[in-house]
Amino acid sequence: MLSKFKRYPLTFGPTHIEKLSRMSEYLGGDVEIYAKREDCNSGLAAGGNKLRKLEYIVPDAIDSGADTLVSIGGVQSNHTRLVAAVAAKIGMKCHVIQESWVPHEDAVYDRVGNILMTRIMGAEAQLVDEGFDIGIRDSWLKALEDVKSTGGKPYAIPAGASVHKYGGLGYVGFAEEVRAQEAELGFKFDFIVVCTVTGSTHAGMVVGFAEDGRARNVIGIDASFTPAQTKAQVLDIAQKTSALVGGKEIAGDDIVLIEDYAYPAYGVPSKETVEAIRLSARLEAMITDPVYEGKSMQGLMDLVKKGFFPKGSKILYAHLGGAPALNGYSYTFRNG
Ligand code: PLP
Repeated sequence: MLSKFKRYPLTFGPTHIEKLSRMSEYLGGDVEIYAKREDCNSGLAAGGNKLRKLEYIVPDAIDSGADTLVSIGGVQSNHTRLVAAVAAKIGMKCHVIQESWVPHEDAVYDRVGNILMTRIMGAEAQLVDEGFDIGIRDSWLKALEDVKSTGGKPYAIPAGASVHKYGGLGYVGFAEEVRAQEAELGFKFDFIVVCTVTGSTHAGMVVGFAEDGRARNVIGIDASFTPAQTKAQVLDIAQKTSALVGGKEIAGDDIVLIEDYAYPAYGVPSKETVEAIRLSARLEAMITDPVYEGKSMQGLMDLVKKGFFPKGSKILYAHLGGAPALNGYSYTFRNG
């Protein structure tokens, strides 16, 4: 489905699929849980899901003649860290807007983890006092104008690399990769669990898995706490991506988004999220973060306990990265 698109390699290659035996057993042993380790997908600045998306965006950025990548996220954005990484790797400048999406208590929240790495890689990280919103923001549009006004040529990458004509392609590729790995493993996964916020990870998977009738087996766990906006964005990206790659038609029902785990707010972990982070770490040494993967892990564990997945199901948890943000949550884990 993707052979006609240019791809600039930023990742090591197919990501590892690991069986989470202790977690499966801990949760009752009725289902088998596996993780696909997108968090370990690259040597660029700790890796993560954005690199799979950016592999299809970078050729367009280079062809445009741009000299500066301009993007946006929260203060502890994984996405802006990886845009900064890509800019360094391809020799471009980088200007990122870091909005105040998350109320926080840690004294060093705006100096450690993702933003620390972003700064070390030479990006201009501009802090802006605006709250959470996955849409197109004035601050980002202004940053594009600022680059132009100083003689630069910006290339626009929206939040999460999602609302971009090529933003969904990377995770179509994920589905194709899983199919090839399933052929080697000798079985197919019944469900794929993924954290959803700006939407192109989930949307790409839906398009990719629609090819063999599994669009609705992709279970998105909302971490935005604005699920109506997120779900509409997933559907829109999926439909546009499907048209672009010549895929199957995607309907509203194909987007499964579970809304129950994003509380109390984007970027703020509940006590159940914190418990899921501890359990994943203690059972599998698999580190998840309080913003994204901790919430999808909480969702996965709770859904297994509730019997959402039929007995005998094989579940693939997509671990999308994000651990660097933990550095901004040291107060939450003061006592382990
Ligand atoms: N997990 C991590 C670690 C992320 O950085 C993101 C980014 O927003 C997501 C999940 C959600 O992916 P998406 O924004 O494509 O919905």
